[in-house]
Amino acid sequence: MKIYEYQAKRLFSRYGIAVPKGVAAVTPAEALAAARSLGAMPIVLKAQIHSGGRGKAGGVRVIANLDEVETAAAGLLGRTLVTAQTGPKGQPVRALLVEEAVAVRQELYAGIAIDRSAGRPLVLTSAEGGVEIETLAARAPQKIVREAVDPAFGLRPFQARRLFFSCGLDAGLCAAAAPVLLNLYRLFTEKDCSAVEINPLVVTRSMEVVALDAKVNVDENGLFRHPDLQDLADATLEDPREVEAGRLGLNYIKLKGNVGCMVNGAGLAMATMDLVKLAGAEPANFLDVGGGATAETIGEGLRILLSDRDVKVVFINIFGGILRCDTLATGVREAASRLGVPLPVVIRLEGTNREAGERILASAGLDFIPVRAMGEAAERIKELLSAHEHPRR
Ligand code: GDP
Ligand code: MN
Repeated sequence: MKIYEYQAKRLFSRYGIAVPKGVAAVTPAEALAAARSLGAMPIVLKAQIHSGGRGKAGGVRVIANLDEVETAAAGLLGRTLVTAQTGPKGQPVRALLVEEAVAVRQELYAGIAIDRSAGRPLVLTSAEGGVEIETLAARAPQKIVREAVDPAFGLRPFQARRLFFSCGLDAGLCAAAAPVLLNLYRLFTEKDCSAVEINPLVVTRSMEVVALDAKVNVDENGLFRHPDLQDLADATLEDPREVEAGRLGLNYIKLKGNVGCMVNGAGLAMATMDLVKLAGAEPANFLDVGGGATAETIGEGLRILLSDRDVKVVFINIFGGILRCDTLATGVREAASRLGVPLPVVIRLEGTNREAGERILASAGLDFIPVRAMGEAAERIKELLSAHEHPRR
């Protein structure tokens, strides 16, 4: 989960990392009030999106006069910002961070990510931070210093100093910047982050070390441990079906195709995706109702699946283990009679109480297409899709 810079900077403050004084704003009038409250010019207006590269794309503006703030804010708010990191569609700017401008002497880089092959957090620093860090990584990778951390010990103070000393910073600056890394590491581990980054971490003219930018990505699997972070997700950017499914405890991911799949168990779900592709079609979603699904959650899953207009054929593929086939059939029957199912449904039941499940579906008078084998399912899906694409007159 990504969070906005202004949210990440609040976290930084709680962890003792210095950030410029700033206020978030969602209207030009709020931006002006925020600038006034900071009490000094110039200020910086920063577009809040879940991506970097804003500086180069015009999303960061230094404003010298108070009477220019509203116009500049109006120019950023509501705009779709396309940066090197957003992809061609860009991201909408719904909020700004209004910050006091900092007199920059030097721009450093500090980041922590997981090195998957080493299975350890990796801390990265550079004395040449700023908007050109990607080119630096390609052009002069030796200027980015790395240090793996043993998670049992955590980042040690000597490592933090060495990370900056190896960048060529003098001893005084190393001593001033090292605590930022230690605090950042503490945040990274305590908040279950997948990546954190400060670019640039600046040395000001008065030799203070300040985080001018802030990126914090939180591992969603750890979110249940952090009620303070759960509200920071921006639901307006997420697929509404994914949000709703998440609330119901269903594992739903929207995909690009037109075969709506309802499956139990992640392994069977993956095999079902393969099967759909083998039939020359594309899955419209990944929906794992889980081993412990009830008739209600099955019904809710079907409702979410059917609410997707891209879905042309439904494929229900269930292995009855902990979830019995008759429980599934009951859920499907109830949901189908409540919602009405305007689409062809291919259904494969296997495992515990299969016959009972099949009887329930047969007696429900639903014109579902029962299949026994995976290959047979692929054939039916193929036929139904071609009938959909080439309707007989
Ligand atoms: P990003 O491009 O999305 O990573 O956005 P940043 O927050 O890193 O801002 C981009 C660049 O704007 C920084 O690298 C700085 O060079 C510059 N910048 C941002 N805020 C200030 C400021 O307060 N003072 C100065 N001098 N430069 C700033
Ligand atoms: Mn940045």
